[in-house]
Amino acid sequence: MNRRVVIIGAGIGGLTSAIRLAQCGWRVTIVEARSHAGGLAAGFDLEGFRFDAGPYVLLDRLGLDWAFQQLGIVLDRALELKRIPEIYQVSDGSTPPVSIYDSGARTAAEFETRWPGSGEHYRCFIDRMDATYQRLQPMQWTSHPRLLDIVRHGAWRDVPFMLRSLAAVLKSSRLPEAVVQALGIWTHVAGQLADTAPSPLALVTSVIHRVGACYPHGGIGMIPEVLFNAATLAGVDFRWGTKVRRICCTNRAVTGVEVDTETLAADAVVSNAGLATYSTLLDENGQAALSARTRRYFARLPLQSPGVCAYLAVKGQPKPPYLRFRLLNELDGCRLLITPGVIDSSLEKNGWYPARLIAPMAHHRAESGGLAGQSDFLHRVVEKERWWRDLFDDVRVLQTRIPNAWGRHFNLHQNSMNPVMTSRFMLTGRVAHRSPWIRNLYVAGSATHPGQWVSFCAVSGILAANRLLADVGVRK
Ligand SMILES: Cc1cc2nc3c(=O)[nH]c(=O)nc-3n(C[C@H](O)[C@H](O)[C@H](O)COP(=O)(O)OP(=O)(O)OC[C@H]3O[C@@H](n4cnc5c(N)ncnc54)[C@H](O)[C@@H]3O)c2cc1C
Repeated sequence: MNRRVVIIGAGIGGLTSAIRLAQCGWRVTIVEARSHAGGLAAGFDLEGFRFDAGPYVLLDRLGLDWAFQQLGIVLDRALELKRIPEIYQVSDGSTPPVSIYDSGARTAAEFETRWPGSGEHYRCFIDRMDATYQRLQPMQWTSHPRLLDIVRHGAWRDVPFMLRSLAAVLKSSRLPEAVVQALGIWTHVAGQLADTAPSPLALVTSVIHRVGACYPHGGIGMIPEVLFNAATLAGVDFRWGTKVRRICCTNRAVTGVEVDTETLAADAVVSNAGLATYSTLLDENGQAALSARTRRYFARLPLQSPGVCAYLAVKGQPKPPYLRFRLLNELDGCRLLITPGVIDSSLEKNGWYPARLIAPMAHHRAESGGLAGQSDFLHRVVEKERWWRDLFDDVRVLQTRIPNAWGRHFNLHQNSMNPVMTSRFMLTGRVAHRSPWIRNLYVAGSATHPGQWVSFCAVSGILAANRLLADVGVRK
């Protein structure tokens, strides 16, 4: 009789785990609280437009390719990925914006015109980051890189790099401050500070120039759609609209999960529910298996809020770039305007295009401000800020989301999408794919990987499944 695994959640990590295990002969049931797959990466329809709920760009095509390969899916056949020529612009509102293009040469040439000498500094920085990326890349596809892996791939040379902060690495580039801000934008939009952010975020620009920043035709939501179809084909059973209330444990081992009306027995459980796995889902036997220190550790991890978001219809075809970042002061952080119509003109409906506005919000600020504070912030961004409205002839706000709504709609632990990716958390504290405390419990998804991107979540699901398979003696 085949072994049975229950997977909590049909986010990207849950889906890739499910496919991998089903392909290896396990009986797989995904229990999903929502009515469909994809979690934060799902797409949805609004007034005739297709929107992505959360993600807006694929920055790590190679990672997604690796994950798909493990599942026997050919990425280029499954999805039509478009490279984005004019990717992003960062403006502080007072000086001309800094632009990052697909082409490194074009980007460097623009820097050179504005800041003589900086073109060469940029080329050197990108070459250095590229070499580091090549050595570190295989580590992303390993559950827990060992010393041997680090030596084999030459990544020992990058240990000092890994121990530095993003701010320190960017400073070493000798590039003008405006360029440094533009290269570190991925940490600003995550509502984080460059001083505590992990150095690998400095690799993003070299990846953009070498591999490209991509957008799948039909939106990022096409990625979970492809995975859902593959899961169905592999025989995965889905239980929609069903919330797991408890992970049941006996003698420090998982025995199944409790849902509304019954207990589903399982030989193993893979949780795609992030920190909730340990904080709220374990039953009292499971909780007893965690030391007070471990419980404290999880309780104290700084959390990342999804921030506030407005789904828009804008009049007239938007002009490049695809992403417009606006850097405000330290207190107000950053904003992002996303215009998929720049890449795909077929999104037009009677002269209107979909667009999206995102503003990060610190988790502690969102929680302490409550509904009123979150709504005030959203109101200020959407109704009072002119910089993005002035780009269009007309704008309609179709829907908005504040952190509490993200939490409710996507079943997020404490209205947070994952722990903040600080350098410390990345190096030491990521949630392990195989639970060190409870046998037959595995975790997949954004809390387990060095980054929270869709591609990393896809990889994490494979790694969690591989851990499980290795534990029962199946060769990968
Ligand atoms: C605003 C925003 C912008 C982003 N931008 C990007 C981007 O540009 N590029 C990028 O790559 N990534 C981006 N991301 C990150 C990316 O979307 C997420 O990290 C990723 O989708 C998370 O996948 P996951 O596997 O961790 O699962 P999740 O998406 O968190 O899904 C978990 C699933 O588990 C279900 N679940 C939870 N608890 C239970 C329970 N008890 N019982 C049953 N089901 C349960 C949930 O309903 C959900 O469907 C963004 C995210 C947000 C919010």
